[in-house]
Amino acid sequence: MELLYKSTRSSEESVTASQAILKGLAEDGGLYVPERIPVLDIEIEALSKMTYQEIAYEVMKLYFTDFTEEELKTCICSAYDEKFDTEEIAPIRKADQTYYLELFHGATIAFKDMALSILPHLMTTAAKKNQVKNEIVILTATSGDTGKAALAGFADVEGTRIIVFYPKGGVSPIQEKQMITQKGKNTYVVGIHGNFDDAQNGVKEIFGNQGLKQQMDQTGFQFSSANSINIGRLVPQIVYYVYSYVKLLADGEINNKETINVVVPTGNFGNILAAYFAKQMGVPIDRLICASNENKVLYDFFSTGSYNKNREFILTSSPSMDILISSNLERLIYKIAGEDAQANRERMQALKKEGVYTITEEMKAQLKDFYGNYATEAETAEVIRDLYKKTGYVIDTHTAVAAAVYKKYQEETKDEKKTLIVSTASPYKFTRSVMNSIDKKYDGMGDFELVDELSRISGTAVPRAIEEIRCAEVVHNRVCEADRMMGTVQEILGIC
Ligand SMILES: *Cc1c(COP(=O)(O)O)cnc(C)c1O
Repeated sequence: MELLYKSTRSSEESVTASQAILKGLAEDGGLYVPERIPVLDIEIEALSKMTYQEIAYEVMKLYFTDFTEEELKTCICSAYDEKFDTEEIAPIRKADQTYYLELFHGATIAFKDMALSILPHLMTTAAKKNQVKNEIVILTATSGDTGKAALAGFADVEGTRIIVFYPKGGVSPIQEKQMITQKGKNTYVVGIHGNFDDAQNGVKEIFGNQGLKQQMDQTGFQFSSANSINIGRLVPQIVYYVYSYVKLLADGEINNKETINVVVPTGNFGNILAAYFAKQMGVPIDRLICASNENKVLYDFFSTGSYNKNREFILTSSPSMDILISSNLERLIYKIAGEDAQANRERMQALKKEGVYTITEEMKAQLKDFYGNYATEAETAEVIRDLYKKTGYVIDTHTAVAAAVYKKYQEETKDEKKTLIVSTASPYKFTRSVMNSIDKKYDGMGDFELVDELSRISGTAVPRAIEEIRCAEVVHNRVCEADRMMGTVQEILGIC
């Protein structure tokens, strides 16, 4: 049955999956949502005999209904291949009575690879389907991980160009090095003087500029987005929640239909929203535990029903979660408002104008599956150290925010249900913060000395992604002011 997508901000437009992927954002600034959330049409036991790729097909075919079986399977096989350093794609590691779902075995060692290794394939397939002749320009704002994962995914993909904006000084040294050494003749990386929200707002403004859009069309270009608002990112993320439940079952760690909790270190609300979708599709998930760092807008939202971004932006050791506007939350707000596009549009306008919106008591009542909390920098460091001392397992700072919040959740609720902590980055990506958490004595060491030391103390091999940048040449050195992003894009495309 065909599944169409509509915008969270108006009820007029509905588009096919491939059109939603191509457009990224709806014309009215809303996010595309499926008209209904499909339910898995296959038993969990049957899934337990399948590979990651096979499960991916079972999930994606329900959402991307205008792709043929062959097209989808080709996209899946091109994405989840030897770029991942493990055949399992998303292995689960048990440590200290908890399950860590490792989503960092792809090309750029962070969870964004799970979706961004398939998005370019979905997008070029969608372009062919819709007779698009223009060159597709991927425009992305990044807090560090999206940028590199998108660059790696789109590098040298025929018919596309990719421009990435990142906050200069607001990402880890390894993250920056990964981006500015990116190869590929269609890749552009620009540092901005500003924070992630400035970068994201700048990109949103460029997307919304009708004059530029016309100019682009006349010169043979059109924009699309690889940001987590693209439905082509959300759907591939649902897959690993289905996969991990099935895997825990196959490994005898849980019984059939036993419910589990999931803890997700959250920034833009994309990853945890995928868990929510998996639950709606029939995966026995109980609580969705939303973990924030000191930028705890979401925690405050879950406790008060008021989303308020008017606060200081804090740079933390989990930079990929340093976000004050969690874009994907809009999809949840829309859903719990009874899919009332008008009411949703008003809330989002209030967020833009006043920086705050509030939900009703009835809406709040629908959020009881969610639990929100946050971890301070000290708590995050403590969890990394304690887990390492106790088990030898080293987790990254983002994952540690989740682990610290899970500890608070357990203390508060005494809930003993089996729990999956989503591990979103390799500790090698945030080596300095990770090693400093374990012992202050590492403070004086160089970035790559720390990498080798981490390998020694954890007994794990240095990932390929890190080896590659050890002596890679810097090829991108563009920097601009936050209010000059549009001019920079025109310059890059040669259309000023
Ligand atoms: C992007 C990212 C997150 C946040 O994910 P959202 O989908 O934006 O909530 C958490 N951890 C890491 C390592 C990330 O790269």
